[in-house]
Amino acid sequence: MRVATLGFHHESNTFAPVSASLEQFLASGPDQGNELIAKYSESQATLAGFIEAAAADADVELVPLLYFDLNPMGTITSEALETIASRLLAALDEGGPWDAVLLALHGAAASEVHRDADGEILERVRRLVGADVPIGVTYDMHANVSNRMVDAATVVNIYLTNPHVDPRLRARQCADLIFRVVRGEIHPVMALETPPLAVNILRQGTSDSPMKELCALANEAASRPGVLSVSIAEGFPYADVEEMGMAFLAVTDDDPELAREIARELARATWEIRAELEGNAVDIDIALHRAAEAEAHPVVLLDVGDNVGGGSPADSTYVLAAAQRLGVTGLFHSLCDPASVALCADAGVGATVELDVGGKTDDLHGKPVAIRGTVQMLDDGKFEDAGPTHGGFRFYDAGPRALVHTDDDHMVLLTSKPRGNTSRQELISAGLDPTTQPIIVAKGVHSPRATYEPLAAEMIWLNTPGCTSADINALNYSHRRRPMFPYERDAEY
Ligand SMILES: [Zn+2]
Repeated sequence: MRVATLGFHHESNTFAPVSASLEQFLASGPDQGNELIAKYSESQATLAGFIEAAAADADVELVPLLYFDLNPMGTITSEALETIASRLLAALDEGGPWDAVLLALHGAAASEVHRDADGEILERVRRLVGADVPIGVTYDMHANVSNRMVDAATVVNIYLTNPHVDPRLRARQCADLIFRVVRGEIHPVMALETPPLAVNILRQGTSDSPMKELCALANEAASRPGVLSVSIAEGFPYADVEEMGMAFLAVTDDDPELAREIARELARATWEIRAELEGNAVDIDIALHRAAEAEAHPVVLLDVGDNVGGGSPADSTYVLAAAQRLGVTGLFHSLCDPASVALCADAGVGATVELDVGGKTDDLHGKPVAIRGTVQMLDDGKFEDAGPTHGGFRFYDAGPRALVHTDDDHMVLLTSKPRGNTSRQELISAGLDPTTQPIIVAKGVHSPRATYEPLAAEMIWLNTPGCTSADINALNYSHRRRPMFPYERDAEY
């Protein structure tokens, strides 16, 4: 059995100001051929599951082709998408014919022309290989799943954890099903149900209610006779596309009615508890007062509107500006601001500097804030964290950094690259003790939890403005379905 594997991973925040250009994609890849095996086989990523499944099956020869991957940012340019699509298709065409194809797609990729970029690529792959070659796809749990993204595939499944710790497992399951299709052992049919419903990012954790219970329902349904796989997609509300929202997908062995019944059952159960899927972020001023008056420290304030992992620029100043206005002191606060880093480097350690920091990428994340203080540290921004971190990352590079101790007693860490605050080593490497900081501002939603939850006296998720704001009602959509909950509260399903 000759099986091709290839992929394209991008979560496109269509509200984010920086487009995902061809240069950005090429700067971070693609990986091809055996490079792809070397890089991913030991990881927990989707491709690792495909590789593992093939290695466990003596009949399968897996041919790694090409994989494009880029951090979440704005809409993909047309040039980037067309180049990526044509390179993927060319690799498939040159290496064929195939007995099956395994695709690693994110499911929330949107380009300037194709808002359903994953569906577009999948359809092109289907046209190339023809109707008879089984195609398996594993999507990220943030996928906005369209009918196209299912119809052109033979088997689709989706991660069932957030933070995502099961991509390898889900991809393995998908690949194993595809191998059984090639052998003629099963005939998968799929049903997709997409109620008009978006889940707030603050409610997406699958170890917390209500997602925990909903995922348990999906796993229970997957164990019923005749059922091959059951998935839930949480969707990605920061993409202004028609298919934005939650999705429920069941795969059965040649039993379309059973698939339909399960997908509807899950969608209905979720719709019934939709009020629990709404956000509960706290206003900035209230959170700052609460942090300033707290008896135990540090209090970690999560800047949800500047969630760098969701495509934002890491230079939002709303929290720092509010702290100045309210007279709240003792913040640790990072900002991506290479120009200010350069000014600090010119001034040198120990020098007094007056700077306008942050708020420079766009007009969604606050204005530059004036600070005055002492340059306390300068370094190259490289640090390592062997402890628990989001995604299991270990090596970090924030670019050249400067730490400024301001006259009003904040620690402002200026970086040259956009970074979320997902490692306590960020502070330690800058000479700060995270356990004695009164207030730590962490840009992110779920990603700072692994490092900060164990040491925080309290974590507060903030209703900060920005292109990843928890207040999804404030996002200016043109393409999403209407009516839809929670935007239109009387939406029906
Ligand atoms: Zn995701």
